[in-house]
Amino acid sequence: MNHTDTVTDMYDVVVAGGGAAGLSAALVLARARRRVAVVDAGEPRNAPAGQIRGFLSRDGMAPAALLEAGRAEAAGYGAHLIDGTVDEITPAAGGGFLVRLSGGPVLPARRVLVATGLRDGLPALPGVRDRWGRDVLHCPYCHGHEVRDRPLGVLATEPRAVDQALLLLQWSGDVTLFTHTLELTGEQRERLAAREVRIVGGEVRRLITDNGPLRGVELADGRTVPRDAVFVQPRMVPRDTLLSGLGCPVDDQGWTVTDASGRTGVPGVWAVGNVADPRSQVITAAGMGSAAAIGINHGLVEEETARAVARRRSAAPAREE
Ligand SMILES: Cc1cc2nc3c(=O)[nH]c(=O)nc-3n(C[C@H](O)[C@H](O)[C@H](O)COP(=O)(O)OP(=O)(O)OC[C@H]3O[C@@H](n4cnc5c(N)ncnc54)[C@H](O)[C@@H]3O)c2cc1C
Repeated sequence: MNHTDTVTDMYDVVVAGGGAAGLSAALVLARARRRVAVVDAGEPRNAPAGQIRGFLSRDGMAPAALLEAGRAEAAGYGAHLIDGTVDEITPAAGGGFLVRLSGGPVLPARRVLVATGLRDGLPALPGVRDRWGRDVLHCPYCHGHEVRDRPLGVLATEPRAVDQALLLLQWSGDVTLFTHTLELTGEQRERLAAREVRIVGGEVRRLITDNGPLRGVELADGRTVPRDAVFVQPRMVPRDTLLSGLGCPVDDQGWTVTDASGRTGVPGVWAVGNVADPRSQVITAAGMGSAAAIGINHGLVEEETARAVARRRSAAPAREE
């Protein structure tokens, strides 16, 4: 469907974001014979990576191939896939929501599910953005096995760099932590030393890539340390403006609060995947989408039954006459 089409019929559910979380929800909802649309801006978080790792039965698949398969499956059961961006979701006067797409179309929906993911804020150093997802990495569970037994670095910008360095020992015995902008405490130094993580002090000037794979780390004082991969701690920022616009409550870290099925604090609004949980991997994002779809469908059945009961009660006296 082209995003300029005018859509007026009420959807049971409109899903904002068609990554693993949103598409998984759409598949389950479409199979439950719900009228569902998925609006997707086409920028999944893991797009820079060559493969998805750790997804049972899909290990090594290209991220785009997984989404292509998911889109075909959801569309096969009747889900409408719309390329576009949701600009705003507002409560509708008669109940439900109005989902406004960039460029004009408005989709009315009984429920909305937000699965817009998160944005990774990366250290502003030459080489980081160019090699992100290839040899500049953040998640050992996604990439550790592929760089096992190789010389690894950790570019420290936050205290969690220490835990990241210790974790990486599971994959390589050659781990160097570059303190860069992090001041290590005595205790942190002791823990790293006890596990034989090498500590290199001083600010890092750039990652040495020379328009090719990462070769090492260059410090501001000119020293260079050869490394095959460097791990960073991205600042994970939820793409949650649709949720905040609806008034969904957040926790003290700023993440939207949901129950185990993805239900937010605003009735009819659901949030799944990385937009609500920075820890979620592809397989867990897909699982959250499935759980939310089941929760949403049950809620719709409840609503339809309550309406039917009300109609029956109001019709009953007339029938008896
Ligand atoms: C470099 C890298 C490699 C990774 N490798 C792995 C791995 O190997 N294995 C693994 O399990 N996990 C991996 N991850 C984590 C993985 O990317 C996430 O777990 C997963 O993408 C979360 O899925 P999601 O559906 O919540 O969000 P996403 O996949 O990010 O999908 C969100 C979608 O919503 C769209 N969107 C955003 N805003 C709007 C809007 N307003 N309107 C419409 N659409 C919108 C986006 O364009 C995007 O298509 C990796 C992450 C990174 C950064």
